[in-house]
Amino acid sequence: MLVLISGPSGAGKSSFLRELLTREERLTFSVSVTTRPPRAGEVDGTDYRFVTDTEFDRLVAADAFVEWATVHDNRYGTLKEELDRTINAGQIPVLDVDVQGGVQVIDLFGDELVSVFLFPPSWAELERRLRHRSSDAESAIGRRLANARWEVGFADRYRYWIVNDDLDEAVASMRAIVVAERCRRERYATLPLPPPGSPPDPGDNP
Ligand code: ADP
Ligand code: 5GP
Repeated sequence: MLVLISGPSGAGKSSFLRELLTREERLTFSVSVTTRPPRAGEVDGTDYRFVTDTEFDRLVAADAFVEWATVHDNRYGTLKEELDRTINAGQIPVLDVDVQGGVQVIDLFGDELVSVFLFPPSWAELERRLRHRSSDAESAIGRRLANARWEVGFADRYRYWIVNDDLDEAVASMRAIVVAERCRRERYATLPLPPPGSPPDPGDNP
């Protein structure tokens, strides 16, 4: 099982994932590679692997990515090796990727994937959050707001929708989804069940 989260920049994906991951031990954040420069407080190898354009080109040429895309003038990608490492450790990878990468991952993994689209409660609140974060230049905020309307157009491709109004409630919804998904019959090994329709043997009754 893999978890995919997408939503417009500023919807609260990072805050939401930070809370979720401290509460769900089996979930592991998939650290993406990016050509974007680090923001204040971001740690290389924890938030992203920050690389040069040349290094990103090399990784693309080496077919190292499950998916990659250009988002707001920078490139971002999920490494195959990152997912393999997490799955081999018995953990569930959580991917925070944009809608272009999200669609690639949805097409690739099908039913193994739990896809979630995170909405802000309103456009006005999205703008307020982007400005409040104050990590981007004014021009970048404008570009992110314009992109947000386009990104929401992809929400139909995702199985679950969560509105990040109250953060705790949004995280509680996500935890409920993880529990439900882990109980899906497809996630169990096949059991030696009788074929459908065969009646119980009356001799088994007391
Ligand atoms: P994203 O990762 O989607 O770009 P962030 O997690 O960086 O978004 O959140 C953008 C801003 O909104 C941050 O300043 C964050 O503290 C704030 N924020 C996130 N979730 C909520 C929420 N539920 N209520 C109020 N503010 C929020
Ligand atoms: P930010 O620069 O705000 O951290 O992220 C900008 C956008 O890039 C967000 O929508 C985020 O989901 C997306 N993103 C982060 N990592 C990846 C990735 O590995 N692949 C893709 N396609 N998008 C990513």
